[in-house]
Amino acid sequence: MQQDVPYLPNCIPIPLPEDVLVELVEKSKDWAIMHGAAMRSKTNFTEDSLNFAPFILLPSTFPRQEFKRAVDVQVVLNELVHRVAHSREFLTSTLKETIQVDEFTGNLFKIYETVQDEGVTQPLSLGLVRNDVMLEAVRSDSPNMKCGSEHMPDCCLKQVEFNTIASGFGWLGPVSAEIQRFVLQELGYFENIGNLPENNALAGLCQGMLEAWKIYGRPKAVILFIVEDVTYNICDQRFHEFKIRELNPHVKVIRRTLTQIGDNATLNSNNELIIDDCEVAVIYFRAGYEPGHYPSKKEWDARLLMERSQAIKCPSIQYHLAGTKKVQQALSRSGVVEQFLTESKKIESVKDIFTGLYGLDFDELGDQAVQMALDEPERFVLKPQREGGGNNIYGTDVREAMLKMKDTRERTAWILMERIQPPLSTGYMVRPGGPNPPPICEMVSELGIFGVVIGDSDKILVNKQVGHMLRTKVSTANEGGVAAGLGALDSPYLI
Ligand code: ADP
Ligand code: MG
Ligand code: MG
Repeated sequence: MQQDVPYLPNCIPIPLPEDVLVELVEKSKDWAIMHGAAMRSKTNFTEDSLNFAPFILLPSTFPRQEFKRAVDVQVVLNELVHRVAHSREFLTSTLKETIQVDEFTGNLFKIYETVQDEGVTQPLSLGLVRNDVMLEAVRSDSPNMKCGSEHMPDCCLKQVEFNTIASGFGWLGPVSAEIQRFVLQELGYFENIGNLPENNALAGLCQGMLEAWKIYGRPKAVILFIVEDVTYNICDQRFHEFKIRELNPHVKVIRRTLTQIGDNATLNSNNELIIDDCEVAVIYFRAGYEPGHYPSKKEWDARLLMERSQAIKCPSIQYHLAGTKKVQQALSRSGVVEQFLTESKKIESVKDIFTGLYGLDFDELGDQAVQMALDEPERFVLKPQREGGGNNIYGTDVREAMLKMKDTRERTAWILMERIQPPLSTGYMVRPGGPNPPPICEMVSELGIFGVVIGDSDKILVNKQVGHMLRTKVSTANEGGVAAGLGALDSPYLI
């Protein structure tokens, strides 16, 4: 199936001579650890040490024009999602079936309805979002599309998903380009460094949090990071914390789990959120996006308590719901984006990046989608309402899963998505415990563009694009989570 997929050209000629490669890999691994491009080990966890995060030695080429398109469309997507998050009618009708069968989304929705009915205490939401895209190779039989070609094959951008909660890699994104800049310098390719675009994601995201903190308006109030019981992706979180201190030395960040919030947090008579004697101005969720983060009712109560508070949430519950896969699918239906955006140029720019998305409700369209999945499972990805990777179904498993659920209500908790076929790149993936020299492998990449939005149901106060990240995985893997072990840090080399 992969044979007719074109290759992207390499940024510099490979293979590198073996002795050069071995020394370079050793050196760049040390560079990565010593500059915080690292994670805690899952297999050998201890809070006292770090492993470097897997990375791609040389940056992957990315068509400049498509990169610019991804960057330019970000503020439009921010606006779209902000408006969707503030349409109770749309969220309610879109998620109606899903929340009946998907308990997790149902619980989020209950919190949403509760605070909407009570009257919202904090009208502002902070969105630190990430739109993920892949290039879709425009098929061609032309022989010059083969590996090592100078030619950039025809590709166009397609949206994978839009994240509104815990959009990570604000640090690991920028530092990936730093590793590769170092590598290109070591190899003497100084003139190539200009092809790595500037990336200020970390500062941009942290400035977003600080802007929300300033709007909250209490000099002593803190920024609260909601974290998992065990954090593997610690550098990505801590660098946000350290950057906030650097940008404003007076702002303190505290880290708490949902369980700790359930045990110790309270609302005072003004609905200010108080934990361990700190008043909370901004809540930044790096956890809370999967059922495992809510082991008991206590954690759900904690989420509701925070939602009822004056603290500015990133994300607010309506932003969280607006980021579900079901909402993404509903937005792709004909005429829906038009309900939220008025300018035709903006509408077209968004619709251009949508790929085929199908709901699985019990109606004619849903039945058609079921049939398509049964007929050609390889063409699709089946997705539940989950975040964090590892939840989707691919290939022939799509048919099996569909056969099992097609006559049950369970199917309405899923969406069916056209599988994007990205062009291939070739290069070296460097991973902890991996071989040196690393073999050349075939890979595919996923680009994420970060956005910052602050606003309420009437107005948008802040709407920015602030940077990017690129993750690359071996082409045979369905998913490329870096912490999960199949993906690696990378950055785009624009040509
Ligand atoms: P999550 O919220 O769990 O990250 P995603 O929708 O991003 O869910 O899916 C996880 C991964 O699955 C993506 O990073 C990508 O590698 C792969 N994937 C998802 N959708 C598609 C698609 N339509 N075509 C190809 N790969 C996809
Ligand atoms: Mg996601
Ligand atoms: Mg994703």
